[in-house]
Order: sequence, then structure tokens, then C-alpha cells
Amino acid sequence: MIVLVVNAGSSTLKSQLIQTDGKICLMKALAERIGAEDAALEVTWPEGGDRRSYPLVGLRVEECLNVLLDAIADELPSSMHSLADIEAIGNRIVSGGEYFTASTIIDDDAFDKIKRCETLAPLHNPPADACIELMRTLLPDTPQVAVFDTAFHQTMPAKAYRYPLPKRYYDDYRIRRYGAHGTSHRYAAQQAANLLGRSLENMGIITCHLGSGGSLAAVSGGVSIDTTMGFTPLEGLMMGTRSGSIDPAIVTYIMRRDGISFDEMDRILNKESGILGISGIGSDMRDVLAAAEKGNKDAALAIEMYTYTIQKAIGALYAVMTRTDAVVMTAGIGENSAELRRRIFSGLAHMGMILDNEKNQVIGAIGTNRVVSIDDSPIKICVVTTDEEMRIARETDALVSGERQG
Ligand code: ADP
Repeated sequence: MIVLVVNAGSSTLKSQLIQTDGKICLMKALAERIGAEDAALEVTWPEGGDRRSYPLVGLRVEECLNVLLDAIADELPSSMHSLADIEAIGNRIVSGGEYFTASTIIDDDAFDKIKRCETLAPLHNPPADACIELMRTLLPDTPQVAVFDTAFHQTMPAKAYRYPLPKRYYDDYRIRRYGAHGTSHRYAAQQAANLLGRSLENMGIITCHLGSGGSLAAVSGGVSIDTTMGFTPLEGLMMGTRSGSIDPAIVTYIMRRDGISFDEMDRILNKESGILGISGIGSDMRDVLAAAEKGNKDAALAIEMYTYTIQKAIGALYAVMTRTDAVVMTAGIGENSAELRRRIFSGLAHMGMILDNEKNQVIGAIGTNRVVSIDDSPIKICVVTTDEEMRIARETDALVSGERQG
């Protein structure tokens, strides 16, 4: 099945055209800093090795998707004759609120519910909804699927998802922990079970999605029972530019002292904090590791703090599981940084998570799922490579094929 994956963010658009049989990527597109003067859409065609750039000046996210569709129509891969050959569209949706516990085909009812979740992810859901709307107009007969970041975590018990705030905030505003990176946590847990030749249903797994954003999940018997991200993706771990959990009183303190607006405070917490805020170097872990190596003390502290919050979070999730069989590392940092894995697990051997330093370092193994703990480590440490767009495409294929058969 040929699936167009649409992953729309507040100022980004990631998209891939994927042939799910054979897991082949036919087209890959990325637009960042949408809204800025120099925004551009970069489209690559793996088949012929072509790469093109399209200016996006003054366009909204869904208008950028329109530019992409024109680009696809101009340069169709050999397996397609027109845009009508796109058999399904898979949309990544950040928040599915309490409505969705799994991915869904977008019919009128589902779309209505998805739109009702806009207040829960005001930066991300509206552009994604606008993309769904556009595709409904342009390709009305092509089925669309929504894959939610939050759905996997809907199995959390109330004691994990409620906040100790007056009850009316949950009743009236649905303020609760929703979590994020759900498809990644689910996939990482399943891949770890496959790697270890065990059944996911009988395992306790702590999944660590460590990219520019990051979250951990406690996956017990295949379902999420707790996660570090909360009502929004700001809670939990220290991240590239996000503070993660801090004393909430700091927020009101800074706002009062500096007389700043809600929007400014929001920006400080989301865009100026975390690794960037502490290191003063940037949010990219590679740059910060390199600076620390050269003796930059702020960079070194940022890495120490990052490592420390992950160690604490692993400990916290370990405490709420009835058993822990494996810890899985995935996403940009989790997959690629042997140094960060070394630092994190050097403090966790006493919990039974014992890294094999040689296996951890094997460069040639990058890109493949692997076990990096010593053979008799009581808790196995796995590295799983994630490909969000491919997962969305396969999930879309499964739902649409199921609907056709059923
Ligand atoms: P997202 O999809 O959330 O933007 P990714 O999962 O691609 O993020 O992760 C991006 C992060 O991974 C960046 O901080 C980047 O520096 C880091 N990263 C990628 N490769 C390496 C590496 N070899 N060593 C350390 N960090 C890495």
C-alpha cells in the first residue's frame, strides 16, 4: 500500500511517501521554521537520488502540504501515475485527549473529536487538523488515519494520570497526565520483547525515548502504566530546550519579578531551557558533548544534569512496576549516543541494569536493534531504532486493510 504520512507541527512539516510492502520510502520531505522568511521545503526522492527545495514564504503549515503535493505530482515515483495512487494518508496527531485509546480511521465522528482536542495541544493539533481538512478536499476518497502520541498512555490508572489539584480542573478542563511519544514507546517495548524472544504480555519494560524531546514510560504487560510527560510535553525529563519538571512556584516567581507575560514564560520554559539553557551552547547533544570534551564546564554540567534526571526517572518507574525485565533506549540520543548510555547505566548497575561496555560501543551495529547489557544482567538493556514515519505508515496500512476486509 502507498501511504502518505503527514506529521505536522507548530512550525514544521515532515512527510514521507511510503510503500508499506517492502517498507520502501519513495519520498521524504521536511519543512522547518514555517512562517519564517527563509522557510523552505526540502524534498528528496530516494529512487533517483533527486533533491529539491521549494520556498515557503508566508505560508501556513497546510499550505506547505499543498506545495508538497504539487511537488509529488510533478515528480511521481515509478510506482505511481497520479496522486490518486496514494491509497491512504497517515496523520500524526499529538493529542487525542481522552477520546482515543488507539489509532483510528478518520470518519466524521472521529474528526469531530480530534478537533475537540485542539485546546489540549494548541500549537500542534490545529495545523494537523488543517492538513486533514485539506486532504479531505483534495483526495476525498482516500482514507485517512490518525495516529496519536497520547493513545498508548490511556491505560494509565487514575493514580498515575491525575494531578493533586482541585477536582474541578479535571472535571471542567480535563487537566491530567496524557503523556506523549506513545507510538515510540509501544514500538520500543514490542521490539525489545522480540529481541529477547519473549512475549510482551509477560514482561515489565521501561522505555526511554531520548530525542530533542524525551520521555520514559513504564510498560507492564504491554500497556503503559505511567510516563514522565504530563498534561503537556513540558513535564518530566530535562530536554533539548524544555525545562522538564521544576518547582511550579518558580514560574510565578519569575513572572512576578520580571513582569513578563504568559507567552514569554511559556517560551522560556519550552525554548530557552533544558540542555540549551544550562550549556549556553545549543540543544543538540552532539554539540554539547563536543564542548564538554573541550573543557566547557556549563556543557559538562548540562550533560551531568541530563544523565541524572534520566537515572532518577528510571528509578521512579522501576519502583512502580511489579517486575522489570528490560530497559529500552530509543530516538536520536538513546539510539546513537554510546557515551550517554554509558553515563546513564554506570549509575544503575546496583539496580541490575549492567551495560556491556564493548557491545555498547559497537559502531557497526548502529541502525539495528540490539542488546547492549552483559549476558547475565538481571535486567536487559536494549537499543531500538525508531522510524516514526514508517510506524505511522504501517499502522495506517493495518487499519485501512482491516477496514477493507471487514
Ligand atoms: P526529534 O525527532 O525529537 O527532533 P531525534 O530523535 O532526532 O529528535 O533526536 C535528536 C537528538 O539526538 C539531538 O539532540 C541530537 O544531538 C541527538 N543525537 C543524534 N545523534 C547523536 C549522537 N551520535 N550522539 C549524541 N547525540 C546524538
